[in-house]
Amino acid sequence: MLKGTGVSAGIGIGRALLIEEHSLEYTPVTITEPQAEKERFNEAVKSFCENTRRQAEALRASVGEKEAGIMLGHISIIEDPFLTGEVGKLIDGGQCAEAALEQICDMFISIFSAAGDDLTRQRAADVRDVRTGVLRALLGISEVNISDVPKDSIIVVRELTPSMAAGINKENVAGIIAGTGSTTSHSAILARVLEIPAVMSVDDAFMSIRGGDTVICDGTAGTVIVSPVEEELKEYIDKRDCFVKEKAELENYRGKPTVSADGTRYELVCNIGKPDDAAKAVENDGEGVGLFRTEYLFMDKTSVPTEEEQFDAYKKAALILKDKPLIIRTLDIGGDKEIPYLGLEKEDNPFMGFRAIRYCLKYTALFRSQLRAIIRASAFGNVSIMFPLITCVEELRAGKMLVEEIKDELREQKTAFDENIKVGIMIETAAAAVIADILAKESDFFSIGTNDLTGYTMACDRGNGSVAYLYSVLQPSVLRMIKRTIECAAAEGIPVGMCGEAAADPLMTPLLISFGLNEFSVAAPSVLRLRKNISAWTKEKADAAAAKAMSLNTQAEIRAYLSSVI
Ligand code: PEP
Ligand code: MG
Repeated sequence: MLKGTGVSAGIGIGRALLIEEHSLEYTPVTITEPQAEKERFNEAVKSFCENTRRQAEALRASVGEKEAGIMLGHISIIEDPFLTGEVGKLIDGGQCAEAALEQICDMFISIFSAAGDDLTRQRAADVRDVRTGVLRALLGISEVNISDVPKDSIIVVRELTPSMAAGINKENVAGIIAGTGSTTSHSAILARVLEIPAVMSVDDAFMSIRGGDTVICDGTAGTVIVSPVEEELKEYIDKRDCFVKEKAELENYRGKPTVSADGTRYELVCNIGKPDDAAKAVENDGEGVGLFRTEYLFMDKTSVPTEEEQFDAYKKAALILKDKPLIIRTLDIGGDKEIPYLGLEKEDNPFMGFRAIRYCLKYTALFRSQLRAIIRASAFGNVSIMFPLITCVEELRAGKMLVEEIKDELREQKTAFDENIKVGIMIETAAAAVIADILAKESDFFSIGTNDLTGYTMACDRGNGSVAYLYSVLQPSVLRMIKRTIECAAAEGIPVGMCGEAAADPLMTPLLISFGLNEFSVAAPSVLRLRKNISAWTKEKADAAAAKAMSLNTQAEIRAYLSSVI
């Protein structure tokens, strides 16, 4: 079995078709007539742009506007006056068009590749694609055409360029395996839009797969099986059929409200890490965002993002979501989330140490600038603030005091913001769950972070394999923490959500309905599945399941029981 990154879910089974790019080798020559060479370059650019426009048109018709935009972006790259100016200068200096183009494109590729954020790094792939396309036009080599492959082909390429992906005939391609690429690369985005299972960054693809081999491409698990035995083949045909059937079934839940079988309405929102993910939440039919993990804005940079940079990011997410809720969690660093430039001291016990709200309440300049950015963004949508890792009411009070001070400042400066912006907290420590009654009196809402709550309740590090057997949200202790938190929120009349992984766990659904959770916040691809799961339960049925589960003494018993009733 080969391993890679699953970038487009589903299972493809078919015959391997290895796509070898034509060689783009040439012998560099010294140019004596730069004007003529520049004209040759311009002609090649023209032909590349015409070809790209045609591909964009085909994509617009077959897939959509946004995907066509990816191709049109390639035209903007090659028409960039700085890029063409620099190529022109090298040709004036005596280099041939091919060498000049390569040198300038390589410069951009190395700058973009070194960037801290994934999206900028993906621009490197786009420039590489442009370089190949124009080089091909200069050398008079026709493009690899994968629009006409036999039915049930599994395409195997070293790098799937967006232009190749754009030429794919969805009817005939059962899967894509590429040697490079990641979830955010444009070709991965195209594979997802085309709904073709795809695995990228498979190191040994070209060495291990021969043309004509039967191949299973599992885009959900990120694995590739070459020449499967009979049993494997049967197993994966069943998996593929299940996937297709379930997907079609889940589509029935798109655009519908999230309601239980007896009509109770729930809020089903998403967890995001970047402002653009808000669009993914909407695409996946999420009803808003229940957790924006802002630390990713900090991790993607080499210095603290400024108030303006953060404001732009929060505002962008708020505008994408329009009036849908957006809960922005303040910086949650430390533990397993490191930000090297903040210079956090090495600690013996980082999960118990100087992190999250504790750090922010000490370095208030940094905290204030984040809070200002969030509060200013509240003028553009339905924004709330959430503090992580609360363990005592003083932390909540100190955070809220800063919020009030900033609101005063903004009022004085006549800067717009939402006067009623809500301030809530994460319940992710045992301490917070135990004093949930106290915290609920001073908090506008709760969101239960089961990832940490499980670790802190069980005193076990989720990354440590030796104690992994203890790490389960179904431990009676953790379930009691969750139940108590929800009951304390209800007693004070504040809404309570869950944004840890457990929110999407089907075993948890009856318990959460019974306990009275109001909001589920999950990864975007889980939205429709969870909406379906919730629709299967009445309160009466959920209460019966919860009563039985809570009467059991071990997580194994609870798991076995819940598995038998879902
Ligand atoms: C959690 O702890 O459950 C949570 C949602 O926060 P994070 O996973 O970001 O620590
Ligand atoms: Mg957490």
